[in-house]
Amino acid sequence: MSHQYSFFGAVEKSFDKAARYTKWEQGILEQIKECNAVYQMRFPLKRDDGSIEVIEAYRVQHSHHKTPCKGGIRFAAEVNQDEVMALAALMTYKCAIVNVPFGGGKGGIKINPKKYSPYELEKITRRYTAELIKKNFIGPGTDVPAPDYGTGEREMAWILDTYSAMHPGEIDAAGCVTGKPITQGGVRGRREATGLGVFFGLREVCNMPDIMKKAGLKIGVEGKRVSVQGLGNVGYHSAKFFQDAGAIIVGLSEYEGAIWSEQGLDVDAVVAHRKQTGSIMNFPGASNFQYNWDALEMNCDILIPAALENVINVENAPRIKAKIIGEAANGPLTPDADEILNKKGVLVVPDMYLNAGGVTVSYFEWLKNLSHVRYGRMEKRFNENMNTHIVGQIETMSGKKMGEKEKEYIMHGADEVDLVYSGLEETMITATHEIMNTWKSIPDIPDMRTAAYVVAINKVGVSYAELGIFP
Ligand code: NAD
Repeated sequence: MSHQYSFFGAVEKSFDKAARYTKWEQGILEQIKECNAVYQMRFPLKRDDGSIEVIEAYRVQHSHHKTPCKGGIRFAAEVNQDEVMALAALMTYKCAIVNVPFGGGKGGIKINPKKYSPYELEKITRRYTAELIKKNFIGPGTDVPAPDYGTGEREMAWILDTYSAMHPGEIDAAGCVTGKPITQGGVRGRREATGLGVFFGLREVCNMPDIMKKAGLKIGVEGKRVSVQGLGNVGYHSAKFFQDAGAIIVGLSEYEGAIWSEQGLDVDAVVAHRKQTGSIMNFPGASNFQYNWDALEMNCDILIPAALENVINVENAPRIKAKIIGEAANGPLTPDADEILNKKGVLVVPDMYLNAGGVTVSYFEWLKNLSHVRYGRMEKRFNENMNTHIVGQIETMSGKKMGEKEKEYIMHGADEVDLVYSGLEETMITATHEIMNTWKSIPDIPDMRTAAYVVAINKVGVSYAELGIFP
């Protein structure tokens, strides 16, 4: 129906806007845009009270230009085919931008998880996995789910167990799903990955002299006045990494309201205060805003919406004073707001690339599962011994002793978390430069989001061009 908003339609619209700046023939563009496979299923659940309920669920594989497909599974009452298709398509483009060699996928089960007991949720998750197995829609080489809204490590462990039970002896079974508990093949650094990726991406933007000059800001993160909406997984870690790098966290908001301090807020102290009092309000030394959305309109250098979609819209966009907006959440700006802010000269750093830290580290988890060894296990000691030897030689030759702190830093061999952080840093830096270079090379491209889409379309296009079309 024409009056119904289509999320997939909106993604197609952004795609078409960017496709104009590429040279691929129309047929290839159509193929890239479409969802390759949509699996809609129904299965029965026997509830704890003995009644039977029909569960509606989906798995969409948007693109097979690289396999496996990759994307989270969402448990939410609002799940529908259009939404799962849109999220699967975004995964294709997100993976392409950060050079994660997967096609896009997404899954959804139309339930409000709060209305089911843990045992019912386990039955739903296991049955869903079994349905995916029957149709070859899951496996380390075909399609690899991950957590999303309403799912986490617990559900991923159930998926792994179901898959392993039905594939006895499959040595790579752990790679059938990511976001697992560390004790079940998960990887260290996954929890903070999205927030750290947001930080790495924005730090790189802040280090670009031409971009900073346009924004009227000094180069670098240090001293930047940052405001963050949402103190959940992504918001907390983004704010924390910015604070640690010397930025001033001037504003923090949660659903109960917002706090502001030009002197800077200590993120961990605010979290502790919220735990103690049940609210971020009345934090010592900070002023209060009754409504969390008021903080969005305050003057700051970088605004990081990290909570919900559509929080910056046609109504408040004209009043936004931030010079840079880092989209940590998925879809925090409506398309209208995007246009208004671009016209105002605000740099919007798009979600599709900025919050790709999660999928990047999921990729590292999958690689770890296929190699059956923890990152750093083989080389950590060797490197430490070698570094200790080098430091000893330097001290002997120079006749000077190194400071304990420097010594520790140089001698330290990389642990799994160090390597995951390093891989994520490299990924975000490279992706930022690829997008910015594309934007510079085609000056007609109106904004960074369109430039990111151009990068994604070109990479998927190259795959089709090189692989040819079967048969
Ligand atoms: P989360 O549930 O951990 O955190 C969201 C926080 O926002 C909660 O603390 C909530 O209380 C707060 N909040 C709700 N309404 C608010 C409001 N009006 N104002 C201020 N705060 C409000 O979720 P998350 O995992 O941090 O995800 C946040 C966003 O980031 C979502 O859009 C999600 O899709 C996106 N994202 C998350 C990941 C990930 O790895 N977790 C990866 C990519 C994108």
